[in-house]
Amino acid sequence: MSQIKRILVAGGAGFLGSRICEELVEQGHDVICVDNFFTSQKSNIVHLLSKPNFEVIRHDIIHPVWLEVDEIYNMACPAAPGHYQFNPIKTMKTSVMGSINLLGMAKRCRAKYLFASTSEIYGDPEIHPQPETYRGSVNTLGIRACYDEGKRAAETLCMDYHRMNGVQVRIVRIFNTYGPRMHPYDGRVISNFIRQAFTGEPITIYGDGSQTRSFCYRDDLVDGLIKMMACDQVGPINVGNPIEFSIRQLAELVVKLTGSKSEIIYTDLPSDDPKQRQPDITLARKHLGWEPTTQLEDGLKQTIDWFKTIDLSQYRPPTP
Ligand code: NAD
Ligand code: UDP
Repeated sequence: MSQIKRILVAGGAGFLGSRICEELVEQGHDVICVDNFFTSQKSNIVHLLSKPNFEVIRHDIIHPVWLEVDEIYNMACPAAPGHYQFNPIKTMKTSVMGSINLLGMAKRCRAKYLFASTSEIYGDPEIHPQPETYRGSVNTLGIRACYDEGKRAAETLCMDYHRMNGVQVRIVRIFNTYGPRMHPYDGRVISNFIRQAFTGEPITIYGDGSQTRSFCYRDDLVDGLIKMMACDQVGPINVGNPIEFSIRQLAELVVKLTGSKSEIIYTDLPSDDPKQRQPDITLARKHLGWEPTTQLEDGLKQTIDWFKTIDLSQYRPPTP
């Protein structure tokens, strides 16, 4: 392999962060996972604890942390609506104060800094699919704003540290991602549908199910993030799967793949729920040589297989 780096993964115990840690440990880097375990559990990283090139620090990134590193992946933020709305002020603090602390570290260490932004910065988009040039349509007063506006402010901080201090930032806008280690009670659509299918609870479609999302498998996504860190682009670059499905189609697919007898029911649509979402990944193809390769049906099968292995009683809702 090339040069061994010391890499901080903030939010490294989470669904995506733990997969990044795994990959970087496998590549031989020295990996430091920093996490406050707000939305994750140790089981996501327990298999890495015996590795000599992995360590974990329980820490909340709204407070400064002093480490010497070559690269920083900032993945730390509750990502599911139910999680980020649990304590919306804390969500905003995590994005803004967490970014200031980690960008400050990047400045001091001359480290590269990758920020996990989100398709949510496009809000309920009027442009479809969404290119990076689209500036978005976010309701600043709504219940999703703590997440969306926190991420937008964090992107601004990235650009200002880049312009003022020469920090090498990498901004990625991640679209809906799923796979093994999703929190089964995070309230996201794929975790809800699979859990409901297994337990025989009704499968809850919010609204009429015509709203769309484009779902990217975890391993494809993480491959894109690692390529982004290695490339020479500041971004933002969209990373996601451009194949779009309605939520009704997703429900039918989960029922088919699980053989579930759960009925599908329709309930109220939460406020500000985006009607459509699909990434334009022209820039990712061009600059990262990246595009997803996992079909939804294949990725869902792997996710369903993982759900079969877990004990739901071991997962708890978030606590502050
Ligand atoms: P996740 O909730 O599984 O992971 C987030 C991790 O950050 C958790 O381990 C959590 O405990 C930790 N964390 C939260 N607040 C923290 C704090 N103040 N200090 C330290 N650690 C903290 O979510 P995920 O799906 O793995 O998302 C990871 C990142 O990717 C997030 O920043 C999210 O906004 C972004 N993202 C994810 C998706 C997706 O579909 N999964 C889409 C867009 C963006
Ligand atoms: N959704 C749903 N049933 C559920 C959970 C979510 O119909 O049990 C819908 C939700 O209203 C949204 C879509 O599925 O339109 C994706 O929701 P998720 O929370 O996974 O992601 P986000 O809205 O942040 O893209």
